[in-house]
Order: sequence, then structure tokens, then C-alpha cells
Amino acid sequence: MDSNLQQDESMRILIVEDSDRLAGLIADVLKRDGYACDVAATLADAENALAVAEFDAVLLDLGLPDGDGVDWLRVQRRAGFDSPVLMLTARGALDDRIIGLDAGADDYLVKPAAMDEISARLRALLRRPGRRMNPVLQVSGIRFDTTSRQATFNNAPLELTRREANFLELLMRGAGSVVLRQKIETALYDFDDEISPNAIDAIASRLRRRLKAHGAGDCIHTLRGLGYLLEDSARFPGSPS
Ligand code: CA
Repeated sequence: MDSNLQQDESMRILIVEDSDRLAGLIADVLKRDGYACDVAATLADAENALAVAEFDAVLLDLGLPDGDGVDWLRVQRRAGFDSPVLMLTARGALDDRIIGLDAGADDYLVKPAAMDEISARLRALLRRPGRRMNPVLQVSGIRFDTTSRQATFNNAPLELTRREANFLELLMRGAGSVVLRQKIETALYDFDDEISPNAIDAIASRLRRRLKAHGAGDCIHTLRGLGYLLEDSARFPGSPS
């Protein structure tokens, strides 16, 4: 896994859970907190997902229709999978938790778990050394707190939708260089989302308008067919020169 690439992207979480309802609830909370999520209802689906995308963390239920999450995790760890894994289990017995941690889980929660606790534990796992950069990004007058998902320009709050915030985060992490379209699409949308051809352009336009409304210059450049670039030393008319 390329750690530089990983740090540039917004975080992507794989939820392995066979209860549709629970998976949906977890996905909603994690999306609210700015993560991109994919759900796998079986271990086979989870394996397919890991084969086609990189995930920054996995939430793993243990009782799955096609096998046991603990055995599966042990196999993944042996195969070199090294992202943090948060086990979600109905099994609270000490032995079960120890077996899970020994199999390669980084943390566990006993069901029923509060949604906010799932999100908090995940943040803690992703903050561990080497996994997360400074939670506050600053590029010229723009400031973005990746924990609270709040952005400001010259200290005035920018009201952003979830996708606008994720888009801004990507541009800020890659400030001064081109952030590829494909990378933006992968970070902002789930596997099964329909992405209209101009969806990313529309988000970029809205973000430009919001910045402009606060007196920022045009600091987001479109590189047609390639991606977007945020100037890292842009001169904003609203900034003191
Ligand atoms: Ca289950």
C-alpha cells in the first residue's frame, strides 16, 4: 500500500455486516462524518471489495452467512492486509474478544454499540501514528478541520455539503498539484452510486461560488479531462497583502 497516496485521500471504510439495517445505520453515521463507505454482506463480498479498492479501515461483524469473521481476518492478516480492523461482535465473552484481537483486530465493540462510539473508535484507530496527518489543513485563507468537517475562509464559516467538504479536503491535501478526477470520484462516491458525467464539475462550481461569496479569488483550477488543482499560494483579494 502506498502510504502517501493513502494520506492524500479522504478515508474509505469497508463495513462487513450482514444485517442490512445495521450496515445502513453505520454507513449513514460514517458518511455524515466524512468517510466514504462500502458495505459487504458476506465474507466473499468483503474479499472482492478488498481486491478492487484500498480501505483505510474495516468494520467487521463476526457472524456472517458464509463464515466466521475471526477466521477470515486471520487469513487476511497472513496475506498482508494491514489496515486497522474494528470488530463488531455480539459475543462479549472475554475469550471471544481475546481470540478476535489475536486474529488481528485492532479494537472491538460489543453489540449493541452506539453509533457515535463506532465513529469515535474508528477515528482513534485512524489517528494512530502513520495513519493520519494533522487534523487541521490550511491553504492560504482556507482552513479545514478534518475532525469536525468545518471549513472557514479568513475565519468566516463556509457552509459545505458533505461532498463539497470531502472535495475540498482532497484539494487541500494535494494543494499545488493536480488531484485526478478518478481519485475524486472514488473518494466521493460509493461503488454503486450513479455518477453523472458532470457531477464532479458541479461540486467544483458550487465550491468556487461559496469561496467567492467570501471574497476569495478563483483558486480552484480545472484541468480539463484530468482533474483539479488548488493553488497553494493563491493571492486572495480578501487577504491582507
Ligand atoms: Ca451477523
